[in-house]
Amino acid sequence: MKYFIVLVVVLLVVWRWRSARSSSIEVKQQRKTPTQTQPTDMAACHHCGLHLPTADALPGRDGSYCSREHRTLAEG
Ligand SMILES: [Zn+2]
Repeated sequence: MKYFIVLVVVLLVVWRWRSARSSSIEVKQQRKTPTQTQPTDMAACHHCGLHLPTADALPGRDGSYCSREHRTLAEG
């Protein structure tokens, strides 16, 4: 009976140690999660309405365009 109590105590200690360790690992993983990237500025094509990143848009007289063809079609 004495050994059974010792065994239960050891199991309790191991269980508590394991649960404490796994919760600290979860905290570390949350810290490792990279910060979200900044949202990209979007522009709508003035001719067809397609949304594309501002860096990829072609600037025109009336606004941004998705392609040279649409800029030519819209601005003549
Ligand atoms: Zn377009």
